[in-house]
Amino acid sequence: MLLGNHYIDGQWRGSTHGGRREIHNPFDGSVIAVVAEGGREDAEAAIGAARHAFDQGGWPQTPAVERARLLFRLADLIERDSEELARLESLDTGKTVEESRWDMSDIMGIFRYFAGLADKDGGETIASPNPNSTSRVVREPVGVCGQISPWNYPLLQASWKMAPALAAGCCIVMKPSEITPLTTLKVTELAEEAGFPPGVVNTVLGSGPEVGAPLSESDDVDLISFTGGIETGKAIMRSAAGNVKKVALELGGKNPNIIFDDADLDLAVDHALNGVFFHAGQICSAGARILVQDKLHDRFVAALKARMERIVVGNGFDEKTQMGPLISAAHRAKVEEYVAIAVAEGANLVLGGKRPDDPALADGYFYLPTLFTDCGNHMRIVREEVFGPVITVERFTDEAEAVWRANDTIYGLSAGFWTRDPDRMERVSAALRFGTVWVNDFNVYFVQAPWGGYKQSGLGRELGKIGLEEYTEVKHIYRNHATEPLNWFGA
Ligand code: NAD
Repeated sequence: MLLGNHYIDGQWRGSTHGGRREIHNPFDGSVIAVVAEGGREDAEAAIGAARHAFDQGGWPQTPAVERARLLFRLADLIERDSEELARLESLDTGKTVEESRWDMSDIMGIFRYFAGLADKDGGETIASPNPNSTSRVVREPVGVCGQISPWNYPLLQASWKMAPALAAGCCIVMKPSEITPLTTLKVTELAEEAGFPPGVVNTVLGSGPEVGAPLSESDDVDLISFTGGIETGKAIMRSAAGNVKKVALELGGKNPNIIFDDADLDLAVDHALNGVFFHAGQICSAGARILVQDKLHDRFVAALKARMERIVVGNGFDEKTQMGPLISAAHRAKVEEYVAIAVAEGANLVLGGKRPDDPALADGYFYLPTLFTDCGNHMRIVREEVFGPVITVERFTDEAEAVWRANDTIYGLSAGFWTRDPDRMERVSAALRFGTVWVNDFNVYFVQAPWGGYKQSGLGRELGKIGLEEYTEVKHIYRNHATEPLNWFGA
């Protein structure tokens, strides 16, 4: 049985009030670990440690090349232990080990990318109206950062936050999702092995209200970075107002995937599957809302259905499995509720809409790939994030209608479309109001490209150069080399 504690000020410790939490395997509900369940006191201890390391411990003054060295070392340790990390991630989330291996390879790349950026910005000299002066613009670390991550891509989402914050010279308090803390704990151990000084990296465990909320409320936290649901994001934004801390939010999505008549049908169908069924559709950028133009509609639906029927659902540790379970019984109940709502709203259930019959999967939180047609913008199944293996198909007539429908959402995370027409590629890319637009592809992420949402999908960007800048304050330093009296108010 795995055990896990908080990591605060370079020490591993249990909760102040002795709380513990069981961590479950979504494949069969078995207990795989017991970890500390913290409270406000533990969050405050971690904030205090990070504050001290930032204000008095010298971390922001540590040369950028040294911060880069530690991050490269951490990436090497993640690579050394990547198979163990991948298996732990699959145990904790239920996703296939193959998918978790991809995640780990991304994660090494993320730490290396931000390590590489850490020592590249020496500031810039700007034009000044006074010839006897020098004006410089420099970026400095923003300070102590609270970082709250979700359960769907536990370590990937944590690394999007940890790597740029540490590269920028910030001290962090990371709070992983209480459902999936194991890989973040393991990487915290690796950060200790890499040699990050005490207080620079802290990890606290526990629920959102008990441990997450104190991070967003604290006057000693300078920035709160959150990935999770939209309602939690709004609550965090409100409580961050207390000390006007910087707020970075990566919230949900309802991501349209538009198939125009002139698309390559086979490619569009193949990528539509990748757009949705990784991690059983529990992806913020899932292209679960598919819009298909009239002429191609029936052929597309038939081909999609045929491919969806062949998706192998099962244990993520079985090489043949293509899709694992949902994260919890409670989350599956939410997906089931949405399916019932869709049926009641008049959507046409073409496939799935139920749990698998296989008795070997009866203890897990499985749900079959599900396909609805005859959907429309007014339906909750189309407007709200389901976060499960459920596709809705809407039919449209022309480009203007497709763009209007796609943009008719409170979300703005990502969108994709399929066409062979180069002019349409330009027009539609410009017209879609989303943080990422994929043309003839879907769900392509890489660390060099910024990630984040328009509208209610979030605030700020992660990854890319801008992902580092989010963790900095901008300072203008003006130096007068030959100050003379002004006598404006008389000599
Ligand atoms: P969630 O909002 O329930 O929880 C996310 C994190 O916030 C957890 O660590 C949780 O403990 C914490 N939390 C909960 N209440 C809190 C509070 N009051 N104060 C502070 N912290 C609190 O979300 P989830 O169910 O873990 O994740 C799924 C959601 O995350 C989906 O909506 C998904 O779209 C979104 N997501 C977005 C992205 C993105 O890049 N935009 C990536 C992954 C997931």
